[in-house]
Amino acid sequence: MKEFEQTFDILHVPAEDELRKAAAVACGVPVSKVRQCVVMRRSLDARGRPVYRYRLQAFLEGDEPPREYVFDYKDVRNAREIIVIGGGPAGTFASLKLLEKGFKPVILERGKDVHSRKVDISAIVREGVVDADSNYCFGEGGAGTFSDGKLYTRSSKRGDIQEVLRQLVAFGAQQSILTDAHPHIGSDVLPRVMESIRNCITEHGGEYHFGSRVVDMTPPASNRGKWKVLCADGSVYSASDVILATGHSARDIYELFASKGWALQAKGFALGVRVEHPQYLIDEIQYHKRWQPGYPHAEYSLVQQVDGRGVFSFCMCPGGVLVPSTTESDAVVLNGMSPSTRSGKKANAGIVCSVEPEDVTGFEKYGPLALLEFQRSVEQRMFANSSSFRAPAQRMTDFCRGKASSSLPACSYAPGVDSALLNGLLPDFVAARLRKAFPLFDRKMHGFYTHDALVLGVESRTSSPVRIPRDENTLCHISLDGLYPCGEGAGYAGGIVSSALDGIAVANAIASR
Ligand SMILES: Cc1cc2nc3c(=O)[nH]c(=O)nc-3n(C[C@H](O)[C@H](O)[C@H](O)COP(=O)(O)OP(=O)(O)OC[C@H]3O[C@@H](n4cnc5c(N)ncnc54)[C@H](O)[C@@H]3O)c2cc1C
Repeated sequence: MKEFEQTFDILHVPAEDELRKAAAVACGVPVSKVRQCVVMRRSLDARGRPVYRYRLQAFLEGDEPPREYVFDYKDVRNAREIIVIGGGPAGTFASLKLLEKGFKPVILERGKDVHSRKVDISAIVREGVVDADSNYCFGEGGAGTFSDGKLYTRSSKRGDIQEVLRQLVAFGAQQSILTDAHPHIGSDVLPRVMESIRNCITEHGGEYHFGSRVVDMTPPASNRGKWKVLCADGSVYSASDVILATGHSARDIYELFASKGWALQAKGFALGVRVEHPQYLIDEIQYHKRWQPGYPHAEYSLVQQVDGRGVFSFCMCPGGVLVPSTTESDAVVLNGMSPSTRSGKKANAGIVCSVEPEDVTGFEKYGPLALLEFQRSVEQRMFANSSSFRAPAQRMTDFCRGKASSSLPACSYAPGVDSALLNGLLPDFVAARLRKAFPLFDRKMHGFYTHDALVLGVESRTSSPVRIPRDENTLCHISLDGLYPCGEGAGYAGGIVSSALDGIAVANAIASR
């Protein structure tokens, strides 16, 4: 097998025989000797004339063929049950791995199935009501279901990323996610994918229980005993192993741990604002004015050291919309999502700064929940300074000058925006760094710092502000045998793919015990 690179015009999708010809040239053999040419990766290069750079693998006669992924889900109707709390990426991929290993996942999910969930999400805008169990963070598929579905991750050490991507494709995601350098699925495709995963799990004998918010957990009384898991509707489930994959917004789970005196640790996270630009402006900047119809809309990724700390872009959504992703009825929290085509007129991203335990003076009395309470206080301040989930907002240039905006540009955030002085609503150490960062970002992306960009508060659910500590070998909670903290809520992942990988790792750990 030989790896090689080849560039192709952005608008040209090379056919199989074209790739084989390229492989023959790269290997110096006739085309008839090329058994297969596989695309490993496709990345956009817009530094000069925009092209796709392909990384290809040529398999010649006599070479070992490329690895095939086969997912052998067992019938687990009568198998040992494992309780999985939370049906986000971590809980879902843990459940798929449990099926492969011959265990029966019993998924307890506080939210609703993807279809019912859509109704509750639209009620946030239509009726100004947040359902505490069914919203942008809670429900089938977890926080990633109504998102851009970006799938790139730096966490290759956590496991086999291809295993996650190939399962997503098998359940209906686009083939392109297997090769794109920055793969994404889109908010229109993700719900379908989650639904077919659920169908696979139930057809093989696994169980889904929607509307099952876990409110209490009791450890086994003896070595051979079982955990008892109580839901808000009074139902009780028991199993010797429990995967806790409740995500970073399940504040009641952290509070439950704190009330029982179970180990928790405060964990740094990042907080800041969402910014929204016209997408054409980002395309112009990133493609050096060469963007044309048919080209993918441009993304960006920015990082800048300011006063000894990184300010960075987070979860950038080309052609996307801003969404109200609060889980509580007295808070404003923003996030972004895009459809698979990324065809909207706006580009949004979080621009955030890290928050460490030493930053949150005045919250010490909350112990390991200090950063969580700090996060909540900022979200509540945003809510108190706007109405009905509208977001406090300012033009970027006004924000940096500390001046109220007398008018605001059109914005994709459906609940609407209110002109406000964000400097007074954000923590000082965050606001001061953001003010310095925006003009500095303009040096890297000329045109980024503009009167036409909107800054909105607050981007706060970037990762978990709490860690549920676990043993690094068994992946079990450090003092609660049989309880496996998993995914982003446990503080061991950030993003869809890394949470899925953590779910797989935890299921493997249970199986190998
Ligand atoms: C709008 C939005 C856009 C995003 N875009 C992207 C993106 O493009 N790419 C990316 O990588 N990441 C994105 N993220 C982040 C990503 O969704 C998360 O990192 C990921 O979903 C975490 O997976 P998880 O399974 O650990 O937790 P979650 O996805 O948070 O899932 C936890 C699940 O547990 C359930 N739960 C919580 N408490 C209980 C309880 N007490 N009882 C029963 N069930 C409970 C919840 O309802 C939820 O379904 C986005 C997030 C949001 C909100």
